[in-house]
Amino acid sequence: MIDFDYTRAKSLDEAASLAADPGAALLAGGTTLIDLAKCGVAKPRTVVDITRLPDLPAIAHNEDGATIGALATMSRVAADAGVQARFPAVSQSLLLAASAQLRNMATIGGNLLQRTRCSYFRDPAGYPACNKRRPGSGCSALENVTRDHAILGTSDQCIALYPGDLAVALTAFDATIRTDRREIPIADFFLEPDGAPERETVLDPGEIVTAVHVPASAAAANSTYLKVRDRASYEFAAASAAVGLELEPDGKTIRDIRVALGGVATRPWRAEAVEAALTGRVLDEASVREASRSAVEGAKSWPGNRYKIELLPRVVARAILKVGGIR
Ligand SMILES: Cc1cc2nc3c(=O)[nH]c(=O)nc-3n(C[C@H](O)[C@H](O)[C@H](O)COP(=O)(O)OP(=O)(O)OC[C@H]3O[C@@H](n4cnc5c(N)ncnc54)[C@H](O)[C@@H]3O)c2cc1C
Ligand code: SF4
Repeated sequence: MIDFDYTRAKSLDEAASLAADPGAALLAGGTTLIDLAKCGVAKPRTVVDITRLPDLPAIAHNEDGATIGALATMSRVAADAGVQARFPAVSQSLLLAASAQLRNMATIGGNLLQRTRCSYFRDPAGYPACNKRRPGSGCSALENVTRDHAILGTSDQCIALYPGDLAVALTAFDATIRTDRREIPIADFFLEPDGAPERETVLDPGEIVTAVHVPASAAAANSTYLKVRDRASYEFAAASAAVGLELEPDGKTIRDIRVALGGVATRPWRAEAVEAALTGRVLDEASVREASRSAVEGAKSWPGNRYKIELLPRVVARAILKVGGIR
């Protein structure tokens, strides 16, 4: 057990000033933070409880889209009627994540900021070498089992997967992350492990996520989240795809397609090559299967995770065909 001070913040300003201490950690649902403290990765000097901050649990809809407070729980957002109708992939990404108990505790902000499940990262005693945990110490995964590691966005310093589901759906629909200081497009929010694997997002120390804004679109309203994993529940993705699709009035030509990938990359990954190959094309199975192959453009695999090269295009194709009503 580690010793830490506990403080409950009463306002965003108070939380921000407490969180400015480099030894402080914000506590939302606690389902990641406590886990990491137990395995010896997180060692906060002060835990700043933000669960009682006003306004942050709110979910608001208007014409432009939905604004989801950082403290809204995963289960509440998944069950929100507006989210289900306007952003089905967002709701599904949450429902397919973790377990019912975890979803009732865990928050949207905490979900986005969960850390990698790389087993070497989470075992400091067994595997001291980990550039993400101890910069410059090496990467234990590279000489060990890589079954659950990334094939996209890797570097020779770290190949750890970004494990979350929600961020993948948010990436497909160009969400914006709001903090106590600024607005950050989700495409710029997560970092690849190039140079500084210990840094996973552009957030400054102590910066607090306050909300996520998801713009409404026809593609978002006609969307799905497909997650393939080792067992049907309570498991992270081996590969996943969030897909949104809008057709032209002819009912067959693709006007707008959004594809983002999970379970395969060091950050939520937009499959721009797949989108470009299909935009303006007639939606049919052959074109979808061919275009889905570009999901692995630029991928690099290791013996343990080579299966993802085969799996990912199939997941992408299945998701597009499903949302297109073909299968
Ligand atoms: C067994 C298990 C299975 C899981 N399976 C899945 C899965 O399949 N898919 C999936 O997506 N997730 C999965 N998860 C992860 C789970 O969804 C996250 O643990 C959870 O969403 C984190 O939310 P939280 O509110 O509990 O975060 P916390 O643990 O409170 O915080 C997580 C991190 O974010 C920081 N933080 C929290 N809120 C803010 C904020 N507003 N601003 C800035 N920093 C903040 C904290 O300081 C901490 O570093 C699983 C977790 C477990 C334990
Ligand atoms: S893959 Fe990244 S997180 Fe995992 S051991 Fe290597 S450096 Fe650490």
